[in-house]
Amino acid sequence: MGINQKDIKLLWGRSGNRCAICKKELTQNKKSTSSAYNLGEQAHIVGDKMDAARGKSPLNDNERNSYHNLILLCPNDHTTIDANPEDWPVEKLHQLKSEHELWVKDNLSTTSDTFQTAKQLAVTNAIDKTVSLCMLDRWTNWTSHALSPDPKWSSKIVDQIFELQRTVISTIWPDEYKELESAIKIFSLNLNESAQTFLTHCDLRGDYYFPNKFYKHYSYPECDNKALEYDEWLRKCYNLVIEATKGANWFADIVRRDINPLFFVENGKFLTMEGDLISGYEYKLYEYSMDEKKSLLQDLSKD
Ligand SMILES: [Zn+2]
Repeated sequence: MGINQKDIKLLWGRSGNRCAICKKELTQNKKSTSSAYNLGEQAHIVGDKMDAARGKSPLNDNERNSYHNLILLCPNDHTTIDANPEDWPVEKLHQLKSEHELWVKDNLSTTSDTFQTAKQLAVTNAIDKTVSLCMLDRWTNWTSHALSPDPKWSSKIVDQIFELQRTVISTIWPDEYKELESAIKIFSLNLNESAQTFLTHCDLRGDYYFPNKFYKHYSYPECDNKALEYDEWLRKCYNLVIEATKGANWFADIVRRDINPLFFVENGKFLTMEGDLISGYEYKLYEYSMDEKKSLLQDLSKD
């Protein structure tokens, strides 16, 4: 699943935003690359794959992508070490990284940096949990089941949505990330309401919750009213998933603005896929308008 936000924050923080080899200052933002800054590269010490430079190792994917296996470099030095792995073996890179981090600590760090890093770690931890618990990297896929004419929700995602709620409430949020805190809370509330509403008329079969078509238990004319009630409930379920998709996009926008400009840049915005085999599928992008965000923030501060 790539490198998580907490490890990125640790790497950049402890490296003092500088290349571990030439000590040049680096930036994380593609747009702000001026002549004074190079775009920093999070290089793998043991290569990210078996066939990459320094890649032969028993480490698994998670270990390869963890902070312990990453070193922050400028593009030039990254190219040099990958082109000459015999001159730049794994052990030498580990040693360079440790020496560089000590140098940063002795020369650049202040107590306020340490406090700042601690606060950011709490926030990045919450971001990583949000990504994994609501399966953001497979958003279109799992929500397409929830939005299908015959909807279903996996019991796994339902459990994880409830766990996200606990995480969001228990996180200690620093004051300077107010909007991120609000966006995660609203996103988590949206997801909770979606899951809770779906569960009101559901049966668990195997690993999935399926709708219980309760109108079938009634005879005419009551069944007609009950069928309407069922349709209305289903529409409400769909709308709540769409609301959650807006929440996901808002959350990711703020992470890109305040924490990591590269967050989900490769995957892009979160889309829904609606439709069925017969009428065809359609991708849709849902986002909150400025006014919607404003009124959601007002509602949240009232609670
Ligand atoms: Zn360098």
